[in-house]
Amino acid sequence: MNKFDVAIIGGGLAGLTASIYLARKGKKVAILEKSDRFGGRSITTNKNGICMNLGAHALYRGGEAMSIFNELGVTIEGAIPTTQAQGIWKNHVYTIPTNFRSILSSSLLSWPGKINFSNLMLKLGKIDLNAIPAVSLSEWAEKEVSDPMVRHLFYALCRTTTYTYAPRLQLARPILKQIQRSMKDSVLYVDGGWETIIAKLRKEASDAGVELLQNKNVIEIEHNGHILRIRCSNGELFEVSVTIVTAPPTEACRIVKRAEETSLHIWKEQALPVTAACLDLGLRKLPNPIHQFVLGLDQPLFFTNQSRAAKLSEDGTIVVSLIKYHDPTLQPSDPQADKIQLEDTMDLLHPGWREELVERQYLSKITVVYDFPHMGRTEKPGPAVPQIQGLYVAGDWAGHDELLADAAVASGKRAALHILKTSKVIN
Ligand SMILES: Cc1cc2nc3c(=O)[nH]c(=O)nc-3n(C[C@H](O)[C@H](O)[C@H](O)COP(=O)(O)OP(=O)(O)OC[C@H]3O[C@@H](n4cnc5c(N)ncnc54)[C@H](O)[C@@H]3O)c2cc1C
Repeated sequence: MNKFDVAIIGGGLAGLTASIYLARKGKKVAILEKSDRFGGRSITTNKNGICMNLGAHALYRGGEAMSIFNELGVTIEGAIPTTQAQGIWKNHVYTIPTNFRSILSSSLLSWPGKINFSNLMLKLGKIDLNAIPAVSLSEWAEKEVSDPMVRHLFYALCRTTTYTYAPRLQLARPILKQIQRSMKDSVLYVDGGWETIIAKLRKEASDAGVELLQNKNVIEIEHNGHILRIRCSNGELFEVSVTIVTAPPTEACRIVKRAEETSLHIWKEQALPVTAACLDLGLRKLPNPIHQFVLGLDQPLFFTNQSRAAKLSEDGTIVVSLIKYHDPTLQPSDPQADKIQLEDTMDLLHPGWREELVERQYLSKITVVYDFPHMGRTEKPGPAVPQIQGLYVAGDWAGHDELLADAAVASGKRAALHILKTSKVIN
C-alpha cells in the first residue's frame, strides 16, 4: 500500500499543473497516468525529426494557461504566427480583410457588408464582456451581425478560436473573450510542439518532489469516510485523503464508486464532447506560400502552416495542419469522407503538395475538449465533488468559462488551491 497526501489521476496539463502547486506547498503528491507517457492530448509525436502535435495547437498568450505557466516559472518558446488570412467560399479562395484598406478592396464583401464588418471588428475589440447576457453565440450574432457574409466570417473566426462548431449551444461571452484575447495578445505556436510544455511541467513537478508514475490505469476509486482507496488495473492500491480526477467525465463516473449519487453524474450528463478530424502533413516546401492561414467560410474547415512561427523540424520540413470541425449535435461524420475533404482542401490551396509530402498523420475523430461553456450546462464542474470528501476534478471539461487548454490548466490550479485552503482549515 502506498501513502501519499494527494493522488492525481491523469498526467496531462491539468494533472501536472495541479501537482506542482500542491508539491511546492509541501504535499506528498503522486500522479497516476495510465499511458506509458505523460502529456495526454498535449503530446507531440516525433516522426523522423518532424514534430507533430495532435492537430494544430495554439497557445493563447492572454489566456489562463500562459499566465499560470508564468506564475510557475515555466517559459514557453515559440513565435506569434502572422495573421494574413484567406477564406474558402464555394471552392474559391478569397483574402480575408484585416485592415481598413483590405476591407475596402475586398471582393468577398458587399458595400453594406464592408460597413458591417468594420463596425464588428471595432466592436469586438472594445466590447464590455460583463454586459453580455447568458445567450448563445448564434443569438448574439443574429442581433449584432446583419450581413450574411460577415456572419460567415464571424462564425469561422469563432470556430478557429474555440475549436468548436456549435453556435446555437456555445455561450457567447467566453467566445467573445477568446476573440478579444486573440486580437489583443495573439497566440503562440510552440517550438518543438506542445511536448515541450509537458517536458517543462514534468521537470517542475519532479523538482518539487512529485512522484510521476506511468502505466497506472486507475479502475476504481472507493470512498470510505476520510479515505479514498484507488485501485489500478495491475492490482496496486493507493490510499489517500485527497484525489484529483482529470480523466474525462464518463471515465470519472465509471471509476468513482456510487458516482451516480454525486454531482459527477450531473457533470457527465451535461457534457458535450467536441471532436475534429485532423490531418497533419510534413512537406519539403509549401507549394503556394501565400496560403498560410485559411478559414473555411461555407465549410467547417481550417488550414494553418504551423512552421511559419514554430520550429518543428531540424531539416526545414514544414508542418501544416488541416482540421474539419465536427458539429457535436450531429451524428458522427464519415472518417474517410472527412479525409478526402481535407485532402481536396490541400489540392485547392496547395496544388502539387503530394510531391512534397514527407510525413503524414491523420486523426479521424479526436476529442478536442470533453466539454465547453454551453447553454445546456446547469452547473460549472468542480473543483470539489461536494458529496465525497477529498474528491476533486480538473481537466478541460471542468472549466469555469475558460476554454480548451486554458480550462485544463486553470481547473488544475483551482483544484490545488481549494485543497490547500481546505487542508489549512483542517490543520
Ligand atoms: C486536435 C486538438 C487540437 C487542440 N488545439 C488546441 C489549441 O489550439 N489551443 C488550446 O488551448 N487547446 C487545444 N486543444 C486542447 C488541449 O490539448 C486539451 O484541452 C488539453 O491537452 C487537455 O488536458 P487535460 O489534462 O484536461 O486532459 P488530457 O490531456 O486528456 O489528460 C488526461 C490524462 O488522464 C489520463 N487518464 C485518463 N483516464 C485515466 C485512468 N483511468 N487512470 C489513469 N490515467 C488516466 C490520460 O491518459 C491522460 O494522459 C486541442 C486538443 C486537440 C485534441
